[in-house]
Amino acid sequence: MSTTFDSARVAELAGQVSGSVLGPEDLGYDAARAVHNGLVDRRPALIVRCRTTNDVIAALSFARRAGLEVSIRGGGHNVAGRAVTDGGVMVDLAEMKGIAIDPEEATATAEGGVIWAELNDAAAQYGLAVTGGAVSGTGIAGYTLGGGLGWLMAKYGLAADNLLAVELVTAEDDVLHVDADAACHSDLFWALRGGGGNFGVATSFTYRLHRVQTVVGGLIAHPIEAAPELLRFYRDEVEDASDDLTVFAGLVHAPDGSGAKLAALIVFHTGDPADAERDLAPFKTWGSPLQVEVGPMPYPVMNTLLDAGFPAGSLNYWLSSFTRGLPDKLIDIAVERFTTVPSPMTAILLEHFHGAVTRVGVTETAVPHREQGWNLLIPAVWTDAADSEANIAWSRETFAAMRPHFGSGRWLNYLGDDQAEDAIRAAYGPNYDRLVEVKRRYDPDNVFHLNHNIAP
Ligand SMILES: Cc1cc2nc3c(=O)[nH]c(=O)nc-3n(C[C@H](O)[C@H](O)[C@H](O)COP(=O)(O)OP(=O)(O)OC[C@H]3O[C@@H](n4cnc5c(N)ncnc54)[C@H](O)[C@@H]3O)c2cc1C
Repeated sequence: MSTTFDSARVAELAGQVSGSVLGPEDLGYDAARAVHNGLVDRRPALIVRCRTTNDVIAALSFARRAGLEVSIRGGGHNVAGRAVTDGGVMVDLAEMKGIAIDPEEATATAEGGVIWAELNDAAAQYGLAVTGGAVSGTGIAGYTLGGGLGWLMAKYGLAADNLLAVELVTAEDDVLHVDADAACHSDLFWALRGGGGNFGVATSFTYRLHRVQTVVGGLIAHPIEAAPELLRFYRDEVEDASDDLTVFAGLVHAPDGSGAKLAALIVFHTGDPADAERDLAPFKTWGSPLQVEVGPMPYPVMNTLLDAGFPAGSLNYWLSSFTRGLPDKLIDIAVERFTTVPSPMTAILLEHFHGAVTRVGVTETAVPHREQGWNLLIPAVWTDAADSEANIAWSRETFAAMRPHFGSGRWLNYLGDDQAEDAIRAAYGPNYDRLVEVKRRYDPDNVFHLNHNIAP
């Protein structure tokens, strides 16, 4: 296999694809290689901005003939930044934006470059929705392949739990319709629901939608001094939460740029107004909140409430783990560590798992994280590269201090670029060996390895 390519081959590729082919000299190259995490600065040899499934096939066969690595970009939101590769071919789906909603069947089929803001809006026109990212710029592709947790997970499960079918281009250029039917690669369908980008390029996703229109949601902010008691109250109060109610908690900074530290609850309710009023009352009335901004809103709006906290191009270093409950000691460590947080954009967040997401079996899909409890996320975000070392060091020290209280699971979608093999194993959990089997069947040469890799 050759490991070089010449301009004639690039011209040939450009003639084959309906999208564009960008090299380092081309206008648009830098914008196309930029991803959400500004720490990621990689320079592909070529970016193929695909518009069709045939473009994806052409890009993959070009990379194979040239002996180049392949990366896949969906929404470009992953903090690990493996959507982009130094010196390889970036199969870029950002322009594959097709969305078809079938209101009768309550399904949506969306192409691999769609982001949640787009799919939420399209489905909302019919009063429909599916579990999507809590930040609207997140791509549906990487998010869904990694499981996909969000506000609707207690009511309807993860995004992956609502997946009905995927169109996938394999390493051999086969275009597969993948679904739960044994005749349609059901082994692969199992693996795509939580196995990440290990198996091919997913060009479209079909989801089951649900009737969701107005939800009740919003933010409740307390002075940081209330954090130890607020988090204890929160822990106890969500113990018996109904499937309609999801509450995340966090140590955050005021969005006004003042740098003021706050203890916050982010609440979400899908039930009727009377149920929402009853279930949310304890959260709205506890203590002496500085701000209670909770009310009815369209579901797509709920998924924009956190957008401003995660600006595109900011520098990101994330660590996370499922916890073993929420013991007082862990709460106290979180509060103590937050006093020294170096960036006014960084938070410590608690994402509560209960309801439908926990009623799916551990081996039913490739996502094994089905216990009631919390995922604790430390999303460090800052803007000045000179501050990178301090922010990364703080995150690691905070994570290490909490470690005795962590469980064995890690959320695949949140893994960074520097995670050791044990973190990757913890993300796939008991499903790892079965994922290896599927990987051997569909990608034995590990063409798709720029991900949290399942080595064949
Ligand atoms: C601000 C922010 C908020 C987030 N909120 C949530 C949240 O609420 N819930 C949650 O679960 N996660 C969340 N995430 C994590 C997010 O789900 C993952 O980073 C996910 O990978 C993003 O998908 P993407 O398509 O945008 O990523 P990309 O960076 O484009 O891709 C990430 C990886 O996914 C694979 N991939 C992407 N597209 C394809 C494809 N079409 N076919 C095959 N493989 C592909 C590739 O391996 C690629 O390296 C958030 C991330 C950020 C930065």
